[in-house]
Formats: sequence, structure tokens, C-alpha cells
Amino acid sequence: MGTYRIGVLLGDDIGPEIVPQAVAALTAAAEVTAGLELRFTDIPIGAAAYKASGYTLPPGTLEQMAKLDGWILGPLGHAAYPQEPKAINPHPIFRRHFDLYANIRPTRSLPGVKTLHEGVDLMMVRENNEGMQPDRNMHKGSGEFMPTPDMALSMRVITRHGSERIARAAFEVARARGKARAATGRTHPAGPRPRVTIIHKRTVFKLTCGLFVDTAREVAAEYPDVDTDEHQVDSFAMALTMKPQRFDTVVVTNMFGDILSDLAAALVGGLGLAPGLNAGDSYAMAQATHGSAPDIAGRNIANPYAIIISAQMLLDWLGRRHTDESAMSAAHKIEQAVHYIIAKNIARTPDIGGKATAEEFGRAVIQAMCTDKSPDGEPFLGPRG
Ligand code: NAD
Repeated sequence: MGTYRIGVLLGDDIGPEIVPQAVAALTAAAEVTAGLELRFTDIPIGAAAYKASGYTLPPGTLEQMAKLDGWILGPLGHAAYPQEPKAINPHPIFRRHFDLYANIRPTRSLPGVKTLHEGVDLMMVRENNEGMQPDRNMHKGSGEFMPTPDMALSMRVITRHGSERIARAAFEVARARGKARAATGRTHPAGPRPRVTIIHKRTVFKLTCGLFVDTAREVAAEYPDVDTDEHQVDSFAMALTMKPQRFDTVVVTNMFGDILSDLAAALVGGLGLAPGLNAGDSYAMAQATHGSAPDIAGRNIANPYAIIISAQMLLDWLGRRHTDESAMSAAHKIEQAVHYIIAKNIARTPDIGGKATAEEFGRAVIQAMCTDKSPDGEPFLGPRG
């Protein structure tokens, strides 16, 4: 019996509307999968925690999280937090404290959802703790400072160690995706073999991007079954916008990856369809790409897709880490059910042209998972991959 303890951190604004849908989907998947038990622990965070305790990251939270196997983190509306030391943005701290160095963000076209592009199946593997981000790229202090009132500076950190492990994560992802395609007879428009595209701007950042690319090339040599190519970040932005189907797996530094993954989301239907996993060697955290969407909060219309698939990625990660078929199978059921109800237009939220509430979407996912056949009689669970 695989038993996993998962922390639930609701987050702000739309967080309490969408995160419970992810918990419900995981709970239902465990119920229909033999040999899997999931135990959830609520952990207060963000604006609600600040109201209750005076801290957005209450003391003892990291210790509590360390006792669990992984976490689902809802979006944080940190831009609206009061400007005071007890109202910090917790998520860079989680990424750093638990060494969650890989941010894995899929971008997929979903059948039936009208978008700028079709046939996109891209995985962005973004370095998570270095780069330009001043709130996490220093051991102490900030990577951004102001020597005079009229001058502001930011430091960019690239290390061989950070570059090597994010490159290895990307090649592992590409290899796994290639194997899954081969097992199910699917092909990728980028070509018959898996491919990693390395993103950089080494014409300008000769040392930092140079170190990143050279290290990634060294890692590439360990993966003769995976093709490699390279793109300058600016030309990649154009190529991604015009022909995103060309790309399979992309490895990218922190800030470039943050920007490019939002751009990629726009190509397939927007941020409501942009999931993500923050993963290290010991822990992983489900966290959608989008923010707390204060503009639509309180109306129950936010799309829970991104956080449900993020949680599904966490379950799959736990299954792979513990070589646990039950967890991987349960993750597969969630993925199939979510994609099925969108493809068949059983439930879609307004951002992708539907009328369903977040709750209705969540209920439809569970219903699809708990039936062997779809309402129109087709088996909805396809091959894993
Ligand atoms: P946002 O991602 O919250 O919203 C951008 C747009 O996308 C909005 O129109 C919003 O309604 C829409 N959107 C986002 N998620 C959606 C969903 N699940 N379903 C339907 N529509 C969705 O970005 P923002 O408005 O720039 O930021 C709002 C707050 O979130 C700020 O406080 C910001 O600092 C924070 N933020 C947090 C994270 C995070 O926690 N990972 C990421 C980005 C922004």
C-alpha cells in the first residue's frame, strides 16, 4: 500500500475555489485505485494566515511541511500583501528551502478548445532558484539593490551545479516523454526522437548563458537517444509564437522560463490551462503557473484545470519516485478524466468558452473517473503516456 501525506495550502483569492477541486480529484482517484492511500493536511498560508496569525508564512510551517511527502500550493496574491516583514511571499522560500530546483510546466492543446494553435505538446523545464530572481538567488540578502536613489541593480546567478541538474531534469523528462509516445504509438510533430531545446542569449550574456549552454551540452552527451538543439531566447519567442508544435522539451533559465511559459500558455487557451510542478530530489510541490486572479475571485468561475493537473503531476512524481504503479495509475486516471470532460464539453469554465463553475468542473472530473464508460458509451481511459 502506497501511503502519501500531502499538504494543502489554499493560497489567496481564487485559491480556495480551485485547490479543493484538486484535492477532491486526488481523493477520488485514490478511491478508485487499489493500493493507494492519500492523507491530506491543511496548512494555513497567505492572506488568511496573516489575518489569523499576523504572518503570511506562520512560524513552524516549514517544519510541518518537511514531515509530508509533497504539497499542493494555491496561487498567492502577494502583490496585495501589506508592506511589512511578516507579510512575505512564501513560495520562493518553499522553492529554496526544499531545493525545488526544477519547475516543470506543460503546454498542451486540448481537443475542442478554440485557441491560437492546435497540436501543441510542449514541456518547459525551468531552473527555479537562480537566475535573475532576487528573492531567491542569494544565500543572504537580496539580488537586487540600490547604491544611490537614482541607480538600481539586479544580479543574475548561473552556476554549473544549477545548470547541470536542470539540464539533467530536462533530458530525463524528454526521454520519459519519448518512451511514453513510443509505448502508445504516438508521434510528436518535432520529430520521431525526443528533443531538448536549450534556450539562451549567449551573444550578450557570454559568461552566464555561456556556462548554462556549455553545461547543458555536456549533459546532452549522456543522452544519445535524445536530440538537442539551441535557440536564442528572442528568436525562440518568435518561433514559439508562430510554430509551437516544433518544440518538445525546453530547458531554460529562471526568468526567461517564467516569461516564456506564460507566452506558451496563451497559445493553448490561457493561464487557466497552465499547470506546473516544482520538483527537487526529495520533495515536490504542485503549483499552477497562474497567479491568484483577484479580478475573478469570489465568483467560482476560475478554471481549476491548471491546479488539478499540477496535483496530478505531483501524484505521478510520487509514483515515479517510489516506483509505485498505483500512484502512477491514479495520476493517469485524473489526466484522462480531465481531458475527457473538456474534449466532450461536459464541463468547461468561462475562460475556455464554457459556463461551468469551478465546482461543477471538479464534480465532472470525479464523475468521469468513477465510471468505466463515458455517458455516450465510449471507454474514456486511454493508454497511459
Ligand atoms: P494572474 O495569473 O493572477 O491573472 C492574469 C489573468 O489570468 C487574469 O485575467 C485572471 O483572471 C486570469 N486567470 C488566472 N488564473 C486563472 C484561472 N485559473 N482561471 C481563469 N482565469 C485565470 O496574474 P496577475 O493578475 O498579474 O497577478 C495577481 C496576483 O497573483 C498578484 O498578487 C501576483 O503577484 C500574484 N501571482 C502569483 C503567482 C503564484 O502564486 N504562482 C504567479 C503570478 C502572479
